[in-house]
Amino acid sequence: MSNLDFVIEELVTANRILANEGIVDSFGHVSARHPDNPKHYLLSRARAPERIERSDIVEYTLDGAAIDENAGAPYVERFIHGAIYEARPDVHAVVHNHSPSVIPFGVTAKKLKPFLHMCAHIGQEVPVWDCRDKFGDTTLLVSDMAMGRDLAGLLGLRPTTLMRGHGATVVGRSVRHAVFVSVYLEVGAKLQMQAMALGEIKFLSAAEIDQIVGRLNDYTLNRAWENWARRAGRQMQES
Ligand SMILES: [Zn+2]
Repeated sequence: MSNLDFVIEELVTANRILANEGIVDSFGHVSARHPDNPKHYLLSRARAPERIERSDIVEYTLDGAAIDENAGAPYVERFIHGAIYEARPDVHAVVHNHSPSVIPFGVTAKKLKPFLHMCAHIGQEVPVWDCRDKFGDTTLLVSDMAMGRDLAGLLGLRPTTLMRGHGATVVGRSVRHAVFVSVYLEVGAKLQMQAMALGEIKFLSAAEIDQIVGRLNDYTLNRAWENWARRAGRQMQES
């Protein structure tokens, strides 16, 4: 199997996992940097993640043009992906989702921060991108490269960012990594709302986060991936 075949198969599984775990619904998407050409990325045509097949995966340039002019209609928000790959050579996968528990943290002054060890991977602080700051009143969708680059600028070197009134964007060193962080971003947001109702929260320290992030290896990612993949009716590929 070629590197490209492997990544396309990973993307189909990632879409099914994210749908099955409630991270995406009919909307949201996951991409991977092209394994043989870092200036291109792979992303499904506009379709609900749960329905995506291998034949839906389209190759795009970083500015969001499909290589195959007969490819199906693209996601409006594909610019999120290209702008992040342009800014972050270390990133090989991007998830954009509207996972429900993160939304309140994008519209209030409450900061989403990790206190469960599995959530350390969301980063020390999750910034909130507000498109109104620079682009005024819009549909809130990231509909061109200027918006994508502004979002990528706020993301900086972090793994996650929220988007006000909209959702979240998560990056990873692999498809499995980006899916893993996306799942625990939702878990962390849900738990934080529960903990806030009880009282003051003792968050992870920066040093604890660094240690936990430093220990994340393929063993952990693969253990989660195998379980989530099989739960979504997909097999895990040997990596
Ligand atoms: Zn969106």
